Amino acid sequence: MTGRGRTMNTSTTDASTVIIGAGHAGLAMSRRLTERSIDHVVLERGEVAHSWRTERWDSLRLLTPNWQSQLPGFRYSGGDPDGYMTMPEVIGFISDYAAAIDAPVLTETAVTRVGVTDDGYRVTTDRGSWSCATVVLASGACNIASVPSLATAVPTAILMLTPMSYRSPDELDDRGVLVVGASATGVQLADEIHRTGRPVTIAVGEHVRLPRIYRGRDIQWWMDAAGILDERQDQVDDLVRARNLPSPQLIGTSDRRSIDLNMLHELGVEIVGRMGSMRDGVAQFSGGLANTCRLADLKMNRLLDRLDGWAADVALDDAETPHRFRPTELATAPPLEFDLRRRGIGTIIWATGYHPDFSWLDVPVLDRKGRIRHHGGIVDEAPGMYLLGAHLLRRRRSSFIHGAERDTDDLATSLHDHLDHQRSLHAL
Ligand SMILES: Cc1cc2nc3c(=O)[nH]c(=O)nc-3n(C[C@H](O)[C@H](O)[C@H](O)COP(=O)(O)OP(=O)(O)OC[C@H]3O[C@@H](n4cnc5c(N)ncnc54)[C@H](O)[C@@H]3O)c2cc1C
Repeated sequence: MTGRGRTMNTSTTDASTVIIGAGHAGLAMSRRLTERSIDHVVLERGEVAHSWRTERWDSLRLLTPNWQSQLPGFRYSGGDPDGYMTMPEVIGFISDYAAAIDAPVLTETAVTRVGVTDDGYRVTTDRGSWSCATVVLASGACNIASVPSLATAVPTAILMLTPMSYRSPDELDDRGVLVVGASATGVQLADEIHRTGRPVTIAVGEHVRLPRIYRGRDIQWWMDAAGILDERQDQVDDLVRARNLPSPQLIGTSDRRSIDLNMLHELGVEIVGRMGSMRDGVAQFSGGLANTCRLADLKMNRLLDRLDGWAADVALDDAETPHRFRPTELATAPPLEFDLRRRGIGTIIWATGYHPDFSWLDVPVLDRKGRIRHHGGIVDEAPGMYLLGAHLLRRRRSSFIHGAERDTDDLATSLHDHLDHQRSLHAL
């Protein structure tokens, strides 16, 4: 079922469940509801896998290996399990999944409001409304690029981009580029742009350093096998902090190389501290860069200690011997400020994270920071409303493609119980 060619419909349709969003998470939930014979519809403002089609840069590859791309009843079946999917491959994977599970997706149907009714929710779209007992918010965690307010003080002659508007270095002029943020996105873009010959500076705040390969195996293999990705939200000490951690410095390439600040420094990328302020075209950077990097090295080594401990416990005998990576080494005195124009900066890329867009949600479930209040995806004080795809929703793997498999199973069970309960109340 697709929305193409349909005429404008202003009527209201009933469904037990409306799923908002046909990314991998919404589709996985659709499959779980079909398994439980729950009638539902998936509403999608664009096409299936819309965010992968429209919001990613050209050279991006998944940082999770192909063998890890698995959804309920579906998994990667190509000939390169240790490779990393390109964007067309991700789009193909998710579209094939939608077809394989025969998901009831209505494409080109944007949800404009979700409100409460006496017996559930009313979901309004630009193509009619749905009345439903339960609603699943699978509209994504990365709908809007987060840009700090100091961006408003950037001189107008400088082009500002985000990872959602950047496509490739070909679109940039020959002037220097300042990348703000050193998560997976920031380091990947600094690397890519510097290789085209443009001078690149990267402003580095808190970051997560990880090697691509450790003791001969992909770091994702280690995290998976050692059970780290299965740690539940109620097992994590500081959940708010853990949910806001930046993505690890990883890249998916055919040579399975690592990407870190040492590598960027050796390439010739200039590394400065976190951007703290901007005034009269002068950007100022934190002097705490060395400490920030020491902390990232320390945390990486703690993780490797934990992996080594696990490997010893399970007597893993086919891995290479434990070793440690060179600490982060930086220029002795990175600049604490520079005038963007005098430096020849022509472009700033704000690789400073993303946040979801729930502007259409007319139900009081958001906290002061605009985040949904929930426990493991069961939305607080909104019976029958569920959330998917958020960081550490239920487990560390929740925001990855492979995280949907177990999360949707748990939440579909909860949703099923809710519908049963509602039916029994109506039968009284
Ligand atoms: C740059 C980047 C790299 C990533 N790399 C990896 C990786 O290597 N491996 C991995 O496993 N994960 C990766 N992720 C994380 C994760 O897989 C993605 O965020 C994923 O897209 C989340 O899936 P989702 O189904 O929750 O949301 P999305 O894929 O964003 O799907 C949400 C859907 O909802 C639709 N929608 C939104 N609002 C509305 C509305 N109002 N009405 C109707 N439809 C709406 C959107 O059009 C979209 O199709 C990456 C994420 C990003 C941003």
